[in-house]
Amino acid sequence: MGRLLPWLTLLILLALAGAAAGVWAGLIVVPRHFDPWARLDLRAEPDWLTGFRLSRLTRDPEECRGALGETGLRFTPLPDRPSDENCALSGVVRVTRSDVSFSSGFIATCGLAAAWTLFEANALQPAAQRHFGQRVARVEHLGTYACRNVYGRADGQRSEHATANAIDLAAFVLADGTRIGVLNDWNAKRGSDRAGERKAAFLRDVRDGACRFFDVVLGPDYNEAHRNHFHMDMGAFRSCR
Ligand SMILES: [Zn+2]
Repeated sequence: MGRLLPWLTLLILLALAGAAAGVWAGLIVVPRHFDPWARLDLRAEPDWLTGFRLSRLTRDPEECRGALGETGLRFTPLPDRPSDENCALSGVVRVTRSDVSFSSGFIATCGLAAAWTLFEANALQPAAQRHFGQRVARVEHLGTYACRNVYGRADGQRSEHATANAIDLAAFVLADGTRIGVLNDWNAKRGSDRAGERKAAFLRDVRDGACRFFDVVLGPDYNEAHRNHFHMDMGAFRSCR
């Protein structure tokens, strides 16, 4: 007993300290700005916690839809759809438009749609303003959902497109109707006219800006398969090329 007593005392003291800390924690109000567990406000200026909060949002469709609902994005939640082929849809939404119009509506995981809103407001539109002094009015995409493997190969791993967790962007149309396409304008760099140079610089800014919000961004610099589009996804890897 004589040997146990100091340990018992220590345990009791620790328990008391723990309880006191708990009470204090309850009293301390962490400002929203510094609370990593606060739901991401997709309309707010991105800060050092945005990436962490976004990754939490991608794992919680209900919270994610709540956050999406606060934005100007027009979307409808869709029911989950199981699949025998590893192409199940879970927590997805159908996006019809945002501040830009799309070449067609698309199905997307809520996380992909959330990343889109951040990308559009904080990378795409600022890049358009910087290079052209006007906004992007329309986005042409090649689709989000396709039950297939990476590069459509017969075997290998499933693409992020198989779960609507990726979008392929082909072109951006400015308010004045100017069209900037990945296929035609990516390489309009040297030797071309000023307008061509500006389009190429804009596309590089869009690609680099997208890397702040999407987990994977692949374009013409990556390989031949991406010569005509930017692939952006919210999968498990991180890559920006
Ligand atoms: Zn893709």
